[in-house]
Amino acid sequence: MTGDGPAETADKGAGRVEPVEIDIRNVSLSFGRTEVLKGIDLKIEPGEFFAFLGPSGSGKSTLLRAIAGFGPTPRGQILLGGQDVVGTAPWKRNVGMVFQSYALWPHMTVARNVAFGLDERRVPKAETAKRVSAALEMVGMSQYAERYPSQLSGGQQQRVALARTIVVEPRVLLLDEPLSNLDANLRVQMRQDLLKLQRRLGITTIFVTHDQEEANTICDRIAVMADGVVQQVGRPDEVYDTPANAFVAKFLGTAN
Ligand code: ADP
Ligand code: MG
Repeated sequence: MTGDGPAETADKGAGRVEPVEIDIRNVSLSFGRTEVLKGIDLKIEPGEFFAFLGPSGSGKSTLLRAIAGFGPTPRGQILLGGQDVVGTAPWKRNVGMVFQSYALWPHMTVARNVAFGLDERRVPKAETAKRVSAALEMVGMSQYAERYPSQLSGGQQQRVALARTIVVEPRVLLLDEPLSNLDANLRVQMRQDLLKLQRRLGITTIFVTHDQEEANTICDRIAVMADGVVQQVGRPDEVYDTPANAFVAKFLGTAN
């Protein structure tokens, strides 16, 4: 053992964060006269891997963006670890978000892309190097650190986007159809990797998809959304076995 500096700083990697609850209370949001979120109530447990499932236009992305702090300010409350974040700036929420399109900086290497958020936060160089390599290791991209985004496949770029998001140790991870641009085989493989990563980090995660199989195979619970309303919440098997209404039954294609 060396006596230099607090272990907290020395050990910083893309490690586990204290999982927090996400408590969405009566959240509504309109674009002009169109109400796209209509009184959403939803509690997501600390460390849970939760999915929003629903057809295009049902409000999934709008709800995720509201949690992250993008777009118009909603009515209602969004509590992260007991703290209402509605009206606070996105960068104060410590929420990580990954989108369908990866949007990496084309002129920066993989390592620089991942380090970007740490540079902005003025994290010391030595610690940045450690955290970047830990994050790349977690997404299986260590050997690509010096490549440029254009030299990577879509799946690899999305892994880098994930590393870039987790390296800053967000409290909550929001994934908006992160696998939708990938081909079918890769999607299936990435599902399992995503699940492993989520479990390893222990981070409360919301995964948005319109692909029910994806949600059912990796998520602890799902919320089925339609027209800005949560139609049903439960474990995938519960929702399948006992759909709450005709919409859910039809959307999931259950026989009931
Ligand atoms: P999903 O992610 O489930 O496909 P969205 O949250 O993107 O759905 O969209 C929900 C509704 O809100 C849609 O009717 C969409 O057209 C509308 N919408 C989303 N963003 C905007 C915006 N910036 N301005 C106006 N309407 C929007
Ligand atoms: Mg969407």
